[in-house]
Amino acid sequence: MSCYLIKELLPLYIEGDCNADTNQYMAGHLHTCENCNQLYEEMKEPLPFIKPPEDLMPSMDEHEEKRKFEKRYYGKLLARACFMFGIVYVIMIILYWVK
Ligand SMILES: [Zn+2]
Repeated sequence: MSCYLIKELLPLYIEGDCNADTNQYMAGHLHTCENCNQLYEEMKEPLPFIKPPEDLMPSMDEHEEKRKFEKRYYGKLLARACFMFGIVYVIMIILYWVK
């Protein structure tokens, strides 16, 4: 395999889309070829910039908000279930007394 092919396969290799044999060959070539290894380092580098730490904070807040909302929602649901159960219980008692 030539350096040209290695460069073609680098994106797939970084994404982990290569099969085991290709991965092994890529790793071996990158270990011995300075040029391809440098390119590999440059190509895998931009990934952290897609998800900067600043972007992770609001999503965590958002997650916390969602959790609070769910807690409140299910709390309301539970209260309503208790209320419904109470009504059914009262109806049963009334029906018992009517009989
Ligand atoms: Zn190479």
